[in-house]
Amino acid sequence: MQLLFLGTGAGMPSKQRNTTSTVLKLLEERGTFWMFDCGEATQHQILHTSLKPRKLEKLFITHLHGDHIYGLPGLLGSRSFLGGEEPLIIYGPTGLKNWIEVTLAVSRTHVKYPFSIIEIDEGIVFEDEQFIVEAKLLEHVMPCFGYTVKQKALAPELFIDKTDALGVPRGPLLKQLKDGRDVVLSDGRVIKSEEVTGEPRKGFKVTILGDTKYCENSITLSEDADVVVHEGTFDVETTELARLYGHSTIVDAAEVCQKANARHLIVNHISARFLSSDLNKMLAQVEDYRFPIYIAEDFAEYIWVDGDLVKQKV
Ligand code: ZN
Repeated sequence: MQLLFLGTGAGMPSKQRNTTSTVLKLLEERGTFWMFDCGEATQHQILHTSLKPRKLEKLFITHLHGDHIYGLPGLLGSRSFLGGEEPLIIYGPTGLKNWIEVTLAVSRTHVKYPFSIIEIDEGIVFEDEQFIVEAKLLEHVMPCFGYTVKQKALAPELFIDKTDALGVPRGPLLKQLKDGRDVVLSDGRVIKSEEVTGEPRKGFKVTILGDTKYCENSITLSEDADVVVHEGTFDVETTELARLYGHSTIVDAAEVCQKANARHLIVNHISARFLSSDLNKMLAQVEDYRFPIYIAEDFAEYIWVDGDLVKQKV
């Protein structure tokens, strides 16, 4: 799993930060990537990365403010031009379906791949054998969701040296053992799965929140998360503005993670009033928190390796 930030600004794009879009790369897990929000010019940002739009499998929209959705029509159209044929599912608040359908119809944009738009309520919005995605409403100036992506426990490691020693033939029996089922060999011996496998491996939990002021649902969604992506539009000195506009300060974001017992915090949706030279000052405001805190920048990538988060640049 990798988190790639395509846009980390708030409200309007600046030369340093495009409007919001965050990518959860699941190339090893399922050969695709998922996107959270699609601010204007997100497809331009993609051009600077190795992402292939046809591999975009799911798009989760937090809310309908323009800086989170104006990149959608362009991306949907280009995905078709670029030969994408795989289905795409878009999740988001009520109103999203109408907006996309009208925009595509009026501009006569013909999308060749099958796609569906699911207007969600709070609760589980997607589940398969690998992942479960849950949404909850946050507190912004319009309905806005936060999402949490939980990877289900991974199959334990199968110790081939042990199965060989016990005389289990290579083939389907090994898969059964790996899946936790005991098997009977042709000579009648029973081989228990637990004899030849390790501990089940815990999956990761990533929480990606939309625009919000400090709220209880952010904490619930971030509970024990490995990584939380939380907006930090403002800092301590501009707390009043955060309260006024339904946003958070970097300290609000850190408080959410502390209360939720989250392991890493990445702050995005940074106001254009803050220059690169201000970022160290912002980070100093949260230096007492005991978990790693990063301020995301456009094209920064965070890689999940052996249960830890490593920052890389594209
Ligand atoms: Zn907003």
